[in-house]
Amino acid sequence: MVARRTPLAVSLCTLLLLALLPAAAAEAWPHAFGPVAGNPANKLLAVPIEDSVYDPATRCTKRERPGTEALIAWLEEHAEGESWGSYRCERWGRHSASLHAENRAVDWHLDASRPADRREADRLIALLLAPDRAGNAQALARRMGVEEIIWNCGYWGAGMDGPRRYSACLDRRGRISRRVDPTTAHRDHVHLGLTKAGAAAKTSFWQLHQAKTRNFDHVHYHREVSGVRPLLRRDVRWV
Ligand SMILES: [Zn+2]
Repeated sequence: MVARRTPLAVSLCTLLLLALLPAAAAEAWPHAFGPVAGNPANKLLAVPIEDSVYDPATRCTKRERPGTEALIAWLEEHAEGESWGSYRCERWGRHSASLHAENRAVDWHLDASRPADRREADRLIALLLAPDRAGNAQALARRMGVEEIIWNCGYWGAGMDGPRRYSACLDRRGRISRRVDPTTAHRDHVHLGLTKAGAAAKTSFWQLHQAKTRNFDHVHYHREVSGVRPLLRRDVRWV
């Protein structure tokens, strides 16, 4: 005999589905990262690749960081979205702080409620965490010195094979909560944190840019490094 679905059973099913929906959203991040065509990391195979390192931030210091500026310029040229800035004094304890506190993180605005923005964030993350042609894992992230990515309740940090659920999004039972505001949940921006070397533009990706631009005249340099963005004085400093 087939059990009749009572209204109670239906509403329980609905509740169950609703409870599952936020978790599904957190699963939007890919779990495995394959090679990506046109990965700029493939142009650097002759140069030794950086290890995966994570440099924690400890204090607030509003220093200009050429690598942070370079990452913003690169994103402006190669990705949809816009910069929401980099420096913010956010201390968590006596010796712990957000990477923003050392001006080593960029918040890149994309909106997870818009499918096109979600696709763009996924594309960007897949590119950063893709292996290069030599099989180096997370090649572009290591070349740039990207050590942390937070997006849409997902978190990746250097040393991790893949993303996990972002702790600030979880309720007491460890489930993704929809009550977390979009900025805390990183549903309205991608957070990209840099190592100290990355923020200093001393990793191989930024060094290549230097080598490519050093002999060029200003006009060419402008186009190469800054795209359509007006040339800022701080850009010149790291050539
Ligand atoms: Zn951030």
